[in-house]
Amino acid sequence: MPFEVWLQSLSENSIRHIRADLTLLTAAPLPFLKEDQAVYQVEQLSMHLGSQPTRIRQAAIQYSLYVRQLDAIQEWEGTIHHTCAHDCTRPPVGCCNGEHHVILSFSDVVFAQPTQNALHLAHVLTDLQNQEHAHAIQQGHYPRLNYCSHLTTTGCTLRMFKSPRCVHYLCPQVAGAVTAAHGNQASAFLAAMHTTGNQVIHSMADFTSALVISTADTLFHR
Ligand code: SF4
Ligand code: SF4
Repeated sequence: MPFEVWLQSLSENSIRHIRADLTLLTAAPLPFLKEDQAVYQVEQLSMHLGSQPTRIRQAAIQYSLYVRQLDAIQEWEGTIHHTCAHDCTRPPVGCCNGEHHVILSFSDVVFAQPTQNALHLAHVLTDLQNQEHAHAIQQGHYPRLNYCSHLTTTGCTLRMFKSPRCVHYLCPQVAGAVTAAHGNQASAFLAAMHTTGNQVIHSMADFTSALVISTADTLFHR
């Protein structure tokens, strides 16, 4: 489903922070997004999250821009998309065999002891996940029972608010396919994806990685 369809469905709570939140666009490069895509996304989420504290609201918006870039990278790098869609050796559901959408499990909280800001951000992202999932179900996507609760017969209901675990995961088969397509140049990108997807979330900085975007930019925009 197009990102804009769901963004348009979000409730609008406040327009007060749009201008400040748009400055996010200049805070980090967004090499895999068009400017109008990013602007609309920031505007809609800024209005929806208007009652959240600035730090949390902006971190949630930054996370959405990051995930959308990873979505674009997977589209851009046809090898990833093609392998998952057509050549997965783990049918029928590939790696979507558990509740990997959960951002912080009970044990994550107990053992990693995330900061209050990280906990708050995870809570806001989980709420947005729930809304994105509910919207996809309303649009007619049909759940695939006994696997991840966000898996439907047409794929994952989440595009913008996948968990860090899901959005960074590339199985050995996909990593091998990317390496076959790009040679050793792919190693930095694959390592950054692996490290970020497996890192323990302690602070808000642990949800994303600038290295993932910069290595993808080097690899796929050459
Ligand atoms: S990442 Fe690997 S296991 Fe998961 S769907 Fe793609 S090919 Fe299958
Ligand atoms: S949230 Fe989506 S990508 Fe992650 S395991 Fe569930 S269906 Fe798969």
